[in-house]
Amino acid sequence: MKKHLLTPGPTQVPEGARLAMAREVIHHRSPEFKAIMAEVLDGLKYVLQTTGDVIVLTASGSGGMEAAVTSTVPRGGKAIVLEGGVFARRWTHICQAFGIEVVRHEIPWGSAVDPADVAQLLSKHPDAYAVFATLLESSTGVEHDIETIGRLVHGLPALLVVDAISGAVSTPCYTDRWNIDLLVVGSQKALMLPPGLAFVAVSQKAWRQIDSIQPQAFYFNLKHYRQMLASAETPWTPAITLVAGLAENLRQIRAEGIEHVWARSAVLAQATRAGVAALGLKLFAERPAAGLTAVRTPPGIETAQLLAALEERFGIKLAGGQDKLKGQIFRIGHFGAIDPFDILGTLAALELVLASLGHRVTLGSAVAAAGRVLQDPRPMAAGKD
Ligand SMILES: *Cc1c(COP(=O)(O)O)cnc(C)c1O
Repeated sequence: MKKHLLTPGPTQVPEGARLAMAREVIHHRSPEFKAIMAEVLDGLKYVLQTTGDVIVLTASGSGGMEAAVTSTVPRGGKAIVLEGGVFARRWTHICQAFGIEVVRHEIPWGSAVDPADVAQLLSKHPDAYAVFATLLESSTGVEHDIETIGRLVHGLPALLVVDAISGAVSTPCYTDRWNIDLLVVGSQKALMLPPGLAFVAVSQKAWRQIDSIQPQAFYFNLKHYRQMLASAETPWTPAITLVAGLAENLRQIRAEGIEHVWARSAVLAQATRAGVAALGLKLFAERPAAGLTAVRTPPGIETAQLLAALEERFGIKLAGGQDKLKGQIFRIGHFGAIDPFDILGTLAALELVLASLGHRVTLGSAVAAAGRVLQDPRPMAAGKD
């Protein structure tokens, strides 16, 4: 049976990248590899919309988060965390592991950060080194309003550090224009690679702060990476194979145009939501993201059974809820290489599985609703539905 991976990471890896990664491993100090790395650094600046430095780390996304924390906030320093889900809470856990004083702004999971609250927090804690935020909270499907938060942090001493591990490339994200000081991205989400690389975009303001503190890091000390950027190298051996695959994906994205990639996810999001609405299902997120749709499991249905049936009967892999959302929601990823066929197929399978589990379904209704959107997509503003 064919496998259809529609989780919010890892995601499907296109054939071009798979073939590039099948080639022989070349040496990371060779001119050939430096040329690939230089191309990758340039491509990353384009997709992340920054003229600043982009650091390539060999780690999963969380490694990038740890690098951002340890490089910017000293032990005993204060940080504000905007916490509305599993991934935002990871900022808190990393800060706590390094003896950082955390001001936790906890909001109900599924809701979006209110920028007015951030303004208050900033005036109450002028000594905060950084505000840690999340663009797409993958555990809830919420897209936070980073643009507005960026306007609030701009001009203050604090840095704005954003987990865009799943948000970047799946939804508009203008690192420079939105005043994001550190942007963390992972390889296995909308960049369509296997896990193993993390990227950190760093602003000039962020470098000044990084230079002014003693980082509690060695492998993840961003200063080591900055020194090697001019020669398109990394201080330690990078995941050479993944970098080769990334070069291929970045070429594809550039050829298509990043705005077009964002728009494509937004249309798939719209189609997915029209489909689940036609089945009488409710969304979980207050401000739904373009990259991912979190759906409330209808009463009387077991999420685990639903997911197992989709996988066993149709080879479709969706994600369930995490932590306190386990059993309450399921999540459909529609960023990266996901296409209309994946979404129509998933909705058709969802209809059949829900019907067999006793949910009242008019077969074809979700597919028809999604089809109408695909036939005549309306432009969708970020975070709007
Ligand atoms: C996937 C994800 C992470 C975690 O990344 P790992 O690669 O599993 O370390 C963190 N934040 C968000 C928003 C994610 O989607």
